[in-house]
Amino acid sequence: MTSRPEILFPLHRSLTTLEGIGPSIEKKMKGLLIDKPVDLLFTLPISFIQRKLVDTVFMYPSGKYVIVEVSILKHQPGRTKQSAYKVIVQDKEVSFNLLFFHARKDYLKKILPTGEKRIISGKLEVFDGFQQIVHPDYIIQISEKAQIKSFQAIYPLTAGITQKIMRRSLNSVLQLLPDLEEWIDPSLKESRSWPDWNLALKLVHDPTSHEAFEIGFPARERLSYDELYAHQLTLAIARLNNRKKAGRQTLGTGDLEASVLTELDFDLTKSQKSSIEEIKQDLAKPFRMNRLLQGDVGSGKTVVAFVSLLVAIEAGGQGVLMAPTEILVQQHVENLRPLGDKVGVVVESLTGRDKGKEREKKLKALRDGNIHILIGTHAVFQSGVNFLDLRLAIIDEQHRFGVRQRLALGEKGQSVDVLVMTATPIPRSLALSQYGEMDLTLLKEKPASRKPVKTVIVSDARIHEVAAKLKEAINRDIQAYWVCPLIEESELLDYTAAEERFKALRTDLGEGLVGLVHGQMSSEDKDDVMKKFSHGEIKVLVSTTVIEVGVDVPKASIIVIERAEKFGLAQLHQLRGRVGRGGSESSCILLYKAPVSENGEKRLSILRETEDGFRIAEIDLQMRGAGDMIGTAQSGLPRFRIADIYNQEKLLNIAHKYARVLLEKDPTLRLTKEGNASRNLLLLMGQEQAFRLLSVG
Ligand code: ADP
Ligand code: MG
Repeated sequence: MTSRPEILFPLHRSLTTLEGIGPSIEKKMKGLLIDKPVDLLFTLPISFIQRKLVDTVFMYPSGKYVIVEVSILKHQPGRTKQSAYKVIVQDKEVSFNLLFFHARKDYLKKILPTGEKRIISGKLEVFDGFQQIVHPDYIIQISEKAQIKSFQAIYPLTAGITQKIMRRSLNSVLQLLPDLEEWIDPSLKESRSWPDWNLALKLVHDPTSHEAFEIGFPARERLSYDELYAHQLTLAIARLNNRKKAGRQTLGTGDLEASVLTELDFDLTKSQKSSIEEIKQDLAKPFRMNRLLQGDVGSGKTVVAFVSLLVAIEAGGQGVLMAPTEILVQQHVENLRPLGDKVGVVVESLTGRDKGKEREKKLKALRDGNIHILIGTHAVFQSGVNFLDLRLAIIDEQHRFGVRQRLALGEKGQSVDVLVMTATPIPRSLALSQYGEMDLTLLKEKPASRKPVKTVIVSDARIHEVAAKLKEAINRDIQAYWVCPLIEESELLDYTAAEERFKALRTDLGEGLVGLVHGQMSSEDKDDVMKKFSHGEIKVLVSTTVIEVGVDVPKASIIVIERAEKFGLAQLHQLRGRVGRGGSESSCILLYKAPVSENGEKRLSILRETEDGFRIAEIDLQMRGAGDMIGTAQSGLPRFRIADIYNQEKLLNIAHKYARVLLEKDPTLRLTKEGNASRNLLLLMGQEQAFRLLSVG
């Protein structure tokens, strides 16, 4: 553990150690997430005011800040306690009012004595045709004029905290800044013209021009970098720590892989090959793999997973593939078991449905090493599920699992290599901040066999035409998905809508040709319908969004999405990814119900324009903000105070790189000057938890 160096003490004491902050203000500061002096430092001003020295306010625009010399003409107390206390003043040309609410008469008489001159400053307003300033920021003697800042920062506020309190508190923290060793690489610092940490804080808290508010202002940028760097350093430490844990080398022979590849009726894409190569290299290393395989829908992640599992088996071990739903488990088993059979690899499934003797039998086979690849839902990680020699765990469609489960997984197998697969094409900036502790493999390319999906936007007034088209398609042996709208958050309502559509389509298209799946069905029934659909007995599959993730039926080449304007962009993209998998032309019909909101319209037209998941994700992000995209509650996304990861992606990448470089040089952050300095940064940024990890290994 690291104890905090003394030099940082003053910044971590209670707020009440600052001049002018008592227990009551201390409490209110919590509304701004300010607990310690150091938090004040990282609460940057959000805007500014500019004050102009004028001779008179005559004809001066309202809403502007002025500094003006006035004579005090008259005090005019309010008639009731509620009404304003007026002081009438006169500048070179005109008279106007100063207004005070809840004012103490004695005090006002003292600071604004009738007949004398004062300098005042504040925001000019017009009320009922009269010019006025409510609660001037400054009322001072002529001789003190220099005190007034013509440029001043404005801070975010909360109940009970005024600009004055913020300014005063900041002034007092800025006096406490210690001289710290630089943690930023010198050449990087120079190339970006970044000031020292101390100076940077002073420059942003005491701005002299609007440039200090621009994202690229060197002082501001430096502080953003510090924040990103501290975060990346923590993730890099977590990653290093992961790798230090138990090392097992898993070296395949290549035999199983070679045989399986000849069984496939396609060649791997370049991306698939290089992904497999990266994974193999990780497996061969005496560290624990912790890798994220990111690939858009339909990029062919399953084959990559399977070949990786084969490597574990070639090395004499076992593997597990976890999927979020039973439908997906079933589908993986159906696809992979025949391949396994051909090369003598035993593929078995385990879900919540396995009970009693059956389950016991499977568990025993697993313990004895007679099952090579286990495919299942989260049931595979329950206690009692033990492997003879588990070497590789793969989690498919990870976004359904959430961050916590990912961490829990690390605890299951002692030295198990972990590969997480996600189809959510999150922008790289988010990937780095969310999964920065993992190594990233990108499956860029899609199989060449994939055909573009023709996307059309159609009013639901024409739903009968769409049904007629479906009928035609069925006659040509084409299959289709029909996705029903998301109504409220209620499963039950979703299900009712789907059920009604199912009945209507059954009447239109023919009994037996239409199937229905929804979240309320038993998993047996769901499987049954899915099987019939994938074998082509059922031609049209009506569903709620349960098919969103992962389902793969190449012969289905039409997808109709009802009330598409209600779905999120990312979700629509995932849904559309269900088609375009086979050889034939595919289409996606987005049915909308007028009137559509502006954003809804934008989402639909973006979808028509592009199939690039990454582009769609970027736009989605811009439209909704990061929290929304991943689900604020479980996103696990860090909150940054200064940095803006959506606009400072480059900076994030730099921070990412330097964090890793530093840890390679100085894995304990004790060996180098930069390492020790970085410790201070982590402490300043409240990333102490990183040290726990450092001290584990
Ligand atoms: P996802 O990445 O969405 O999980 P899948 O692994 O389900 O994608 O693959 C989508 C479809 O593409 C499957 O039918 C699969 O068999 C097929 N596929 C995978 N790789 C290739 C390839 N290299 N060439 C042609 N088809 C492929
Ligand atoms: Mg998949």
